[in-house]
Amino acid sequence: MAHVFEPAASGRSKCRACGLALRRGELRFGERLPNLFGEGDMTLWFHPRCAAYKRPQPLLEALTETTLEIPDRPALERIARGGAAHRRLPRIDGAERAPSGQARCRHCREPIERNTWRIRVVFYEEGRFFPGGFVHLACRAGYFETGDVLDRLLDLSPALAQEELTALERACIDSENTNK
Ligand SMILES: [Zn+2]
Ligand SMILES: [Zn+2]
Repeated sequence: MAHVFEPAASGRSKCRACGLALRRGELRFGERLPNLFGEGDMTLWFHPRCAAYKRPQPLLEALTETTLEIPDRPALERIARGGAAHRRLPRIDGAERAPSGQARCRHCREPIERNTWRIRVVFYEEGRFFPGGFVHLACRAGYFETGDVLDRLLDLSPALAQEELTALERACIDSENTNK
């Protein structure tokens, strides 16, 4: 039941983590697990980078075993090692501005003010990712047990325009300064 890397045979499969298509011919990562709905195995497909963020352990196992040339291998390893070392990091699903003031932070339990940055959290269970609420940007070190999350936030927020990414980066730096 080894995990695999292989080029996508068609353009029809979707990445489990980000939901976007795995383009035909593009290298994809397959996490193998026992079929939850019947006999045999099932394979969950990911962009390798998405798997490095969201499924670090299986990706690291596959990197050790594969004989293929993996593009961006050092970056994938670095991302996955971070997630393997800090168990909550793979829960990060990106950042966004709170559209309302209704959600509470998973860490401090205080409301997250409208229009301020919040980190989306997802939980992995049996082959699926479930929405797990939000964390204040300023609570990131407390909740994720490491303050080193900015690269993840930027990379996992493809919906944000460049100026929003810059604003997010600035907000990260500002909240670091106020914590000191
Ligand atoms: Zn993906
Ligand atoms: Zn908080």
